[in-house]
Amino acid sequence: MYCSDLGEQWHTARIEPSIDHLDAASAGRASRASIDAITGHLWREAERGAYVAAEEQAEMLVRGRRDLAALIGHRPEELSFRDSARACLRALLNNWNLPLAATVWVAVNEFGPNLDEFERRGIAVRTMPSADRFGHVDVDALENMLQFEQPDFLHVCQIGSASGVVQPVAQIVEVAHHAGVSVVVDMAQAVGHIPTVTGADIVYGTSRKWLTGPRGVGFLAVRSDALRPVQVESSEAYVAGSLGLGQAVAEVKEIGQQRVYRELARIGQITRERLDGIGSWEVLEPIDEPSALVTLAPPPGWQASDVATAQVALRETGILVTAAESWRAPLAGEQSLLRISPHLDVRRSQLDALASAIRTMGY
Ligand SMILES: *Cc1c(COP(=O)(O)O)cnc(C)c1O
Repeated sequence: MYCSDLGEQWHTARIEPSIDHLDAASAGRASRASIDAITGHLWREAERGAYVAAEEQAEMLVRGRRDLAALIGHRPEELSFRDSARACLRALLNNWNLPLAATVWVAVNEFGPNLDEFERRGIAVRTMPSADRFGHVDVDALENMLQFEQPDFLHVCQIGSASGVVQPVAQIVEVAHHAGVSVVVDMAQAVGHIPTVTGADIVYGTSRKWLTGPRGVGFLAVRSDALRPVQVESSEAYVAGSLGLGQAVAEVKEIGQQRVYRELARIGQITRERLDGIGSWEVLEPIDEPSALVTLAPPPGWQASDVATAQVALRETGILVTAAESWRAPLAGEQSLLRISPHLDVRRSQLDALASAIRTMGY
């Protein structure tokens, strides 16, 4: 039995997996139509010439850009494409006219490699206070802090790489804008997963995770009315990949994005309810956190290498999840976690199989 009414539709739109794929947070499974959009274009490039083929697809490319822009709350002309989310952040930081010795405030779920990008450029990082032990930003405390001091920008992972916690980005944007501070949102784990129209000034993300588009396509959107334009468009582009992403976004739009978000939130809750406390593994989000990214802390006494071993053992039994080491969210602590990220076609039996596998590992 699928956990969602959308499960069967999502499943039949894709090739039959050879594994219980519970790893959308690493890379989702692309639909046949998205793969066809990519391969179809590669064939046309070889047949007619790549530039001719791209011209012929101009309308589809415009449509893809328009749909993605609508999904993330930006205008189509504000979008540019790069090969990854990280490349988008680099392009932004390299082209943005920040002062020397700039400062950024981040949340406790900040993605480790993003911190490296800040550090490399001498941008001083400060962590915003959390409202609870889960690491949600304390918006009231932030509002107070902003009265006394304004960083050059806020940077928020709407969802991080090692926690399913959803940051209250719309509220953060509201208090930041009140203080005249711009907000940059890393939506690599959020786009296609939870609502991403937040009013943020700059957002970036990737095609391959919850949108289940191709690898190798990242996007960046810079609000043109809020900031001096940051010019990061690349002269060369993975056109086939853009078409594949456009198809993936069109499928989400066709189902109804709010319905996708609602069902993924429900799947997250079902997954947490099923797994919490099994064999002393502990769910680290609130059970009803509205995301399908679920993290489990290992039983007491486990080392990072034990979690990595557990991930390999699960894969050998046919279950794909991630061993999330602490580099993914270094401000949140040292612990390694098991990250489970089912998409719309997850079945109860797959969660049962995972539960019984980790139960026997839980001694
Ligand atoms: C995956 C991820 C990234 C990096 O995305 P790439 O496309 O691999 O560069 C950035 N931030 C978060 C929160 C992620 O989960």
